[in-house]
Amino acid sequence: MRKIFRELVSVEEAKKRIFSKIEIKRKVEEVPLIDAYGRILAEDCYSSVDVPPFDRATMDGYAVKAEDTFGADEDDPVALKVIGKVEAGEVPSVEVRRGSAVEISTGAVIPKGANAVVMIEYTSRENDVVYIYKPVPPGANVMSAGSDIMTGELLVRKGTRLTAREIGVLASAGFKSVRVIKKPVVAVISTGNELISPGEKLDFGKIYDVNAYTISSGIIENGGVPIFLGIARDNAEEIRSKIAEGLKIADMVIISGGTSAGVGDMIYKIVEEFGEVIVHGIAVKPGKPTVIAVADGKPIFGLPGYPTSALMIFEIFVAPLIRRMAGIPEGSRRVVKAKVPMKIFSAMGRREFLPVNLVEGKEGLIAYPFTEYSGAISTLAEADGFIEIPENKVLLEEGEIVEIKLFGDINPADLMIIGSHCVGIDVLLEILQKRKPLLAKVINVGSTGGILAVKRGEADIAGTHLLDEETGEYNIPYLVKYGLSGEAFLVKGYIREQGFIVAKGNPKGIKDFEDLLRDDVTFINRNPGSGTRILLDMNLRKIAEEKGINFEELKRKIKGYDVEAKSHIAVAVAVLMGKADVGLGIRTVAERYGLDFIPVRPEEYDFAIRKDRLDKEPVKLFLEVLKSEEFRRELEKRLPGIRVTERTGEIIEI
Ligand code: AMP
Ligand code: MG
Repeated sequence: MRKIFRELVSVEEAKKRIFSKIEIKRKVEEVPLIDAYGRILAEDCYSSVDVPPFDRATMDGYAVKAEDTFGADEDDPVALKVIGKVEAGEVPSVEVRRGSAVEISTGAVIPKGANAVVMIEYTSRENDVVYIYKPVPPGANVMSAGSDIMTGELLVRKGTRLTAREIGVLASAGFKSVRVIKKPVVAVISTGNELISPGEKLDFGKIYDVNAYTISSGIIENGGVPIFLGIARDNAEEIRSKIAEGLKIADMVIISGGTSAGVGDMIYKIVEEFGEVIVHGIAVKPGKPTVIAVADGKPIFGLPGYPTSALMIFEIFVAPLIRRMAGIPEGSRRVVKAKVPMKIFSAMGRREFLPVNLVEGKEGLIAYPFTEYSGAISTLAEADGFIEIPENKVLLEEGEIVEIKLFGDINPADLMIIGSHCVGIDVLLEILQKRKPLLAKVINVGSTGGILAVKRGEADIAGTHLLDEETGEYNIPYLVKYGLSGEAFLVKGYIREQGFIVAKGNPKGIKDFEDLLRDDVTFINRNPGSGTRILLDMNLRKIAEEKGINFEELKRKIKGYDVEAKSHIAVAVAVLMGKADVGLGIRTVAERYGLDFIPVRPEEYDFAIRKDRLDKEPVKLFLEVLKSEEFRRELEKRLPGIRVTERTGEIIEI
């Protein structure tokens, strides 16, 4: 039975309950000053000494009575008798009287009777006589006792985060240790039968645990100490015992996964045994299944399993609480305005936190949202911030200006590549980075999205592989169609071998498109608009014509025509798992999964490059690498099915 969330609360209500139902208890600990960096001071620190504790020379030279030097001149120096010497750390044994001087080092105690120091540069010495060439006023080069810090003075205020500067002040006043707020200890638990720890062998059907690492890092970032209690299987007993352990050793417990209604809402039921559930479901996307409870006064958070969702919910609801417990001001995120380049649909009735990639457009910033597919953890790492889409808003219009809350600093990219995803680009960039380290941003929005981004001036380069059904030509017809004539060039890229992906040994004996019509063959299709889908339909139309049947009717004969995978990889996985006998895709992916491949037709993966970016240094470098021998070699070695041709790097006017 599907569990229905009892009552979704708003973002504000959830925050309110967190801060009203969870009492912040801060503990204090004493740490050696040498280990105090980054810690939050728990009490005001006052000085119990003067700094400096005595009148002190700030220069090497001679301690004198200032009056003796008056009238001294380059041509007419004053002669004084040197009666002794004081080094730093020594107690002076002589007293300076009129007509005499004492040699002194920087940091040494000014001897009795002296009220100034003449710098050594303005003196010369002959036996026990020193000649002074420049007069000094009283107090010159002397730091008087207590002039820096006086006894009783407030040194550093409670609540300050200690950095090198504050720690220096405390050391000067003799603090050996300081009392700081104890970092809240947070127990972290991952749940899921499918999870294994990084470093272990990745058996089929398993995935690496991501949340333990992202959440633990987030805890540190916000001033806490994470303790990872390991992965719990989807088993109530295991989860229960880990929560119990967490409550014993930590100030907060964070569990991820197992919260969605589909898996029986296990976390909710278990935390309910420990304490009061204060939030069960938040009207937010992502992260609706979030559970928040309080047990023994300690908060327990049940975060969603998907790493991006878990991290967003952590940022929004958990991080502020950890900071409060750690005594760190919540701070506010920097906000910038940006334009959205495409229509974005949002869930009605739920606040959406949509991660975005910021790109410099012709007039200001452009915010590229992470699509569902690419919203994976790899791309979240590159997100600059997020849009907060209100509950009552279901659509952001193309061109609408929105506020972006930043995660940190925006790093403007040296090279912006927006378009269709291809592993060939990764190899190219790797070589490029080796030649010259620069920040390249790659945003995968498909071929058409890339061409539009080039048109709007957001992308320097777009990777595209669009087949024109009418002419059978790749890419150029699309650049023309989207109005890039005169504005951009097409640069020939490389060939990707396209064909049927089938199980090892080709058990169904697939040879060509006609085989897809067989009763014993199940196909897996690609999404409309993809180059592969266009290739399929082109060939099916041909068959329909030959057979003299209607195209629609022919499509209905293919089992699985209406099942769409969103990527080459998804096609390969469907075949690997036996969900389909055959799909269309590139050889590179077939080989990666140990599947067989029957070539159909090579696909031309090219680059659209804005004319006005062709002299940009990183773009030049990109083209240089594209044409390089090294790139050819690396493709051959690492990516079977992707190869350069004699036309690679050729620039074509549109
Ligand atoms: P759940 O809430 O357990 O249904 O998880 C939702 C999705 O997130 C599933 O696809 C899980 O495999 C995935 N997931 C859950 N926990 C983790 C984790 N610690 N690391 C990576 N993925 C996870
Ligand atoms: Mg799970």
